[in-house]
Amino acid sequence: MQTRFSAEQRRNPEIQDADSILRRCVHCGFCNATCPTYRLLGDELDGPRGRIYLIKEMLENDRPATERTARHIDRCLSCLSCMTTCPSGVNYMHLVDHARVHIERTYSRPWRDRALRRLLARTLPFPARLRPLLALARVGRAVGLRLPGRLGAAQRLAGVVPRGPSPWDTPQTLPAVGLRRARVALLTGCVQRAIDPAINDATIRLLRRAGCEVVIARGTGCCGSLAHHLGRADEAKTAAAATITAWHRELAAGALDAVVVNASGCGTHVKDWGFQFRHDPALAEPATKVSSLALDVTELLDRLGLPPVTGAAGDQVVVYQSSCSMQHGQKLTTLPKKLLAAAGFKLVDVADEHLCCGSAGTYNVLQPEIAAILGREKASMLDAAGADAIATGNIGCKVQLAQYGRTPVLHTVELLDWATGGERPSPLVR
Ligand code: SF4
Ligand code: SF4
Repeated sequence: MQTRFSAEQRRNPEIQDADSILRRCVHCGFCNATCPTYRLLGDELDGPRGRIYLIKEMLENDRPATERTARHIDRCLSCLSCMTTCPSGVNYMHLVDHARVHIERTYSRPWRDRALRRLLARTLPFPARLRPLLALARVGRAVGLRLPGRLGAAQRLAGVVPRGPSPWDTPQTLPAVGLRRARVALLTGCVQRAIDPAINDATIRLLRRAGCEVVIARGTGCCGSLAHHLGRADEAKTAAAATITAWHRELAAGALDAVVVNASGCGTHVKDWGFQFRHDPALAEPATKVSSLALDVTELLDRLGLPPVTGAAGDQVVVYQSSCSMQHGQKLTTLPKKLLAAAGFKLVDVADEHLCCGSAGTYNVLQPEIAAILGREKASMLDAAGADAIATGNIGCKVQLAQYGRTPVLHTVELLDWATGGERPSPLVR
């Protein structure tokens, strides 16, 4: 694609990066075929190629984002399906990230949008703020109070089972069970910690039995991904910088074989920190180092091998749902299934596994209509598989699918933990 940035614009390294991404696009439109919003809405501007044109026009003209541009970019799930499809290697992720920051800085949203986005950015990444809100949402549901519109979408995500913090949330080092084979830092995260602490608990038990000393480093928390996808670059970087600094300190103090992430949305973001901090003189090198050590928990387990399998999985049938961030963001497609099969689960496949469930960070709150259609579609497809459980590697998908489907949804590590001597996950019927 030909671009028309001025010489002055090209001196900006961010524009240089955007320019080189834009130039790779050859307008072929193959990406539209696998874009969930294009499939649903049928508008060229709600597909990747149309969005790329909108971004190009907005950046070249160096002017505030229009309502039209913001609307079509806001409808993008950042599922990255288009990146897997694109034959030309267009890095749509970096381009749309750039566009979201430009929109956030230059476009004046209606006050309700601004307030909701601010509320999400200031509560979701902070478990101590989020837990009371979740409790309130559950009380509201219990007494029949249903909030309208997008607040209602947020309320529905609150789940029904109140859970307190995990004892493993605080900074500590947990020894390996048996011979130590690796020393790893775990991202305990933010939203997942408040909504579903059982996932971190299962991860820690499983990693320890696999021979890992697990470090919960002081100062780590949100990876910044939530704020990043809202275009709030400064908040995203502040959150990420705290975690990078904490892990870098841990690295300097002793060897770390990996930093482990068990939410694939966060994993995609952590693996990209090197790029995000590329122009930051203080953090470029630590961020690159930490990113290079980042592994999804299934990648680490594949390297180390599962702890001995107990046979608990029995004849349980599992259907695996590959989160977009796992399959398109991290290009991990077969590993989780391989581990589940090795743990003794019988796997069934579904067609159109690549379809997004509509969770996409805060998308199911900000774009509830599109998210609900995608959520219902995906959940009914997975229900039709007739499995005992759905396995997934991302908290957002877990919550979204549980909302729209009948089959119990579990994180992959909860199943692997159970099959190798851990607790039976509570949603599974005996
Ligand atoms: S990231 Fe997903 S929703 Fe956005 S343009 Fe690409 S395929 Fe479409
Ligand atoms: S598939 Fe790639 S090259 Fe073709 S239009 Fe889409 S982004 Fe551009």
